[in-house]
Amino acid sequence: MIAPEVPPPDEITLPWWEATRDRRLLVQTCAGCAGRQHPPRALCVHCGSDRLDWGTSAGTGVVDSFTVVHRAPRPELDVPYVIARVRLAEGVILLTRLEGRPEEEWRIDDPVRLTWVGLGDGRALPVFVPADVS
Ligand SMILES: [Zn+2]
Repeated sequence: MIAPEVPPPDEITLPWWEATRDRRLLVQTCAGCAGRQHPPRALCVHCGSDRLDWGTSAGTGVVDSFTVVHRAPRPELDVPYVIARVRLAEGVILLTRLEGRPEEEWRIDDPVRLTWVGLGDGRALPVFVPADVS
């Protein structure tokens, strides 16, 4: 798989990206209300606090929704591939890709687990595979 284009990190998302070097998926956690959120933001979406911390996701979740991309936005991308919203066990939604299963076999609520696609610069992108694949 060719590494997808990703946005450059900013001061808010930099810790999240740096953790991907260790293949750790961070979830922003609020010290004020214990709410969790993704993607990282400057303020808590639940209570407005700026006392935000990081927790490490267990890397498990379920498919919340998905779509199969048949027409590549860039010619070097292999199609089809599956873009999905995955609801992590921590409760937040991650926009990601599904791998490891024919695209027509994916279903809503399928259990998934985290794996990583290297970006070539040491960072990595979290993608998800069926939970029962070792
Ligand atoms: Zn909060």
